[in-house]
Amino acid sequence: QFSEMSLREIDKVAASSFPLCMRHLFEKLREDHHLKHGGRMQLGLFLKGAGLKLDDALAFWKAELSRKVGAERFDKEYAYSIRHNYGKEGKRTDYTPYSCQKIILSTPGVGDHHGCPYRYFSDENLRAALGKMGVGSQIMEDVMDKVRNRHYQLACTLTFESIHGSSCDAGINHPNQYFKDSQKILQ
Ligand code: SF4
Repeated sequence: QFSEMSLREIDKVAASSFPLCMRHLFEKLREDHHLKHGGRMQLGLFLKGAGLKLDDALAFWKAELSRKVGAERFDKEYAYSIRHNYGKEGKRTDYTPYSCQKIILSTPGVGDHHGCPYRYFSDENLRAALGKMGVGSQIMEDVMDKVRNRHYQLACTLTFESIHGSSCDAGINHPNQYFKDSQKILQ
C-alpha cells in the first residue's frame, strides 16, 4: 500500500513516479495554467487513482486554472466536473482512471496534450523527453525501436526499468500501475 498523495509533495512525486503521459500533462498544466477537456480528464482521474483526495484535487486545479480564468469562473465551470469525476455530482458514478489501452487509442487534436506520448510525439520530442527522465542513450535506442514497431507499452516498460534500475516483469498496462510500482521501489 502506498501513501496517499498530498498536494505538498505532488511536484516531487510527478518528477519521480509519473509515467510520461501524465508527466507531460502535469508539466503543460503548470506551464500554461490550462488543459483541454481530454487532458483534464486523463490527468484528473489518474491523480484520483494515485490517492489525491477531492479537496486537494479542487485546490490543485484551482491554483492552476484560475490563473487563466479567475476563481469565479473556475468555481462555475470546472469545480463541478472535478467533483463529478469523484462521484459527487450527477449520476454519482465513481469514474475509473484510464488504462494504457484507452489512452493509446485516443486521438489528441491540435492543442491537446492527452494521449500516449510514445505514440504521438515526434522522434525528436520523444528523445528529448526520455533524456529528461533520465533514460540513457543505450536504452534510448531500444525504446525507439519498440516505438517504431508500435509496442508503446513495451517502450514505457523499458523506460520504467531504465530509470528505476529495476525490472518490471508484468509490463506496464496502466498509468496508475506505473505509479504504484514506482512508489513501491522509491519509498
Ligand atoms: Fe502512459 Fe501507458 Fe503510454 Fe506509458 S504506455 S505513457 S503509462 S499511456
